[in-house]
Amino acid sequence: MRYDFVVVGSGCAGLAAACELKQAGKKVLLIEQHNLPGGCASSFVRGRFEFDPSLHELCTIGSVENPGITRKQLEAYGVNINWQKVPDCFRIVSEYSDGSLMDVTMPSGKEAFIAKMAEYVPDSKKATEDMFELFAEISAGLEYTSQGDENLNGKVLMEKFPNLLKIGSYPCMPVFKKLGFSQKAIDILSTYWSYLGVDMDHLSFLHYSQMVESYVELSAYIPEHTSHEISVAMVEAFRNMGGECLFNCRATEFIFDNKKCVGVKTTAGDIECDCVLANINPDIIYAKMMPEHAVPEREKRLSAARKGRYGARMFTAHFGLNKTAEELGIKDYSIFMPSTADSSKEYESLKKIATNNYTIFLCYNIVNPNFSPEGTSVVSFTTTYTSPEDWNKVTQENYFNVKDEIAKKFVGLLKEKTGIDIKDAIEEVAIASPMTFSRYLGVPEGSAYGFETRDWDGIIARTMGMEFDYTINGLIPIGTSGIRGDGYSSNYACGQLLARYALNKQGGNK
Ligand SMILES: Cc1cc2nc3c(=O)[nH]c(=O)nc-3n(C[C@H](O)[C@H](O)[C@H](O)COP(=O)(O)OP(=O)(O)OC[C@H]3O[C@@H](n4cnc5c(N)ncnc54)[C@H](O)[C@@H]3O)c2cc1C
Repeated sequence: MRYDFVVVGSGCAGLAAACELKQAGKKVLLIEQHNLPGGCASSFVRGRFEFDPSLHELCTIGSVENPGITRKQLEAYGVNINWQKVPDCFRIVSEYSDGSLMDVTMPSGKEAFIAKMAEYVPDSKKATEDMFELFAEISAGLEYTSQGDENLNGKVLMEKFPNLLKIGSYPCMPVFKKLGFSQKAIDILSTYWSYLGVDMDHLSFLHYSQMVESYVELSAYIPEHTSHEISVAMVEAFRNMGGECLFNCRATEFIFDNKKCVGVKTTAGDIECDCVLANINPDIIYAKMMPEHAVPEREKRLSAARKGRYGARMFTAHFGLNKTAEELGIKDYSIFMPSTADSSKEYESLKKIATNNYTIFLCYNIVNPNFSPEGTSVVSFTTTYTSPEDWNKVTQENYFNVKDEIAKKFVGLLKEKTGIDIKDAIEEVAIASPMTFSRYLGVPEGSAYGFETRDWDGIIARTMGMEFDYTINGLIPIGTSGIRGDGYSSNYACGQLLARYALNKQGGNK
């Protein structure tokens, strides 16, 4: 059987691409190596608890009255989720860059956020207002770039959205300084850096602005029943449109006829198609899944320039507790606990297992009291490693010990920094290390963020470079290494954009 498109991998990007291509009336097959969809967007069960392996919060969902682009995108596929609003942006318990104690809770809602910033840092009001204005211009510009306007070019963008191009390729720090923020204000605004995996000296301001604007203005959301709910609903929507799925089917190689990809070798046999969208890191595709002669020179150079700089090697310890959040004194949904608010220093500390003392604590029951059985709660501790070095040295013999010690350290840090003691309430534990993510998702070094979205390799560079970066005939890598970087919403957008790009190319070929 021959398909117009085969989508390999049912991560957020794969699912969105499959729905998008099917909506365009194409013959589409979605294959997934596991028995369930979603990649990171999934769930697993231990005892009487269901855990979410990744999702803390989604951006660009918004309310029914004021929907964000992701809510609209999913609804357009027929995916309707009972979204639950996250009450605050975040609480951060840490040290300011000057070493003084920091315990800050930032609300969602632009006005409330600006007012709270002014309360913590009295001279920050004007700069915060200016920052939100900048966010708005960047968003409008990006929305314009997503519409697939054939006349899109740098000149048009410069005329309509000058700050998108001027500021969009800078890292956060110089933009914050230009806006006039003091170091104390920058410390608070830096809190989300770990969600993007790059310190503020190198993190693309554009990527930062997209996430923060949405979290603050539209609030963050989670589905009622873990991210598995979203992935299952997307598969159902895809099937309702006539799409076909093959689970437990692993793509092993892409089939090339000279320089054109004409199909996929899989554990279920060879599949012919006009074009493949692969939810796989490009480094893996080029090195292991296609003939070297078909990898374009530019792709090789881009890979070399990125030097395997993968973002955020993930570690999460999940706990099912036999006490409620209230009984344990947990009031916040998320508490960020870096050892310092100075993101560059912290980025360095996150290179080593011993020096990584940064964890993000989360309690799902704060958003949804029915998230776990009555009288219980579900919490998690997440951190990221900015280098693979220490994890590469962990042997099979000491692997479980290393994981347990890290989890214990984080439980201790929670008690030390907030007074919340969960130790005696632990009923179930599940720990995922970079190895777990690497094995399950097939991502290099356990990074769920793809390549770091550094200033030179941020969203604007990737979007403007689309025509040059996606030049393999009949094969398009999609996912967290792609044009929109890491995150759920980013990858629903990435799948959508690159599916449209593929459709345009196919139309062009005809
Ligand atoms: C602990 C953690 C916390 C996170 N928190 C958040 C958060 O709060 N908010 C947020 O927005 N983002 C968060 N993220 C990031 C987000 O989950 C990811 O960036 C995003 O889900 C990646 O989507 P993707 O499309 O790249 O696919 P992936 O999730 O990487 O999935 C790829 C899929 O392809 C399949 N596959 C791979 N190779 C093959 C093959 N050869 N054949 C067949 N199938 C294959 C895999 O099995 C998998 O199902 C978090 C991630 C982690 C790990």
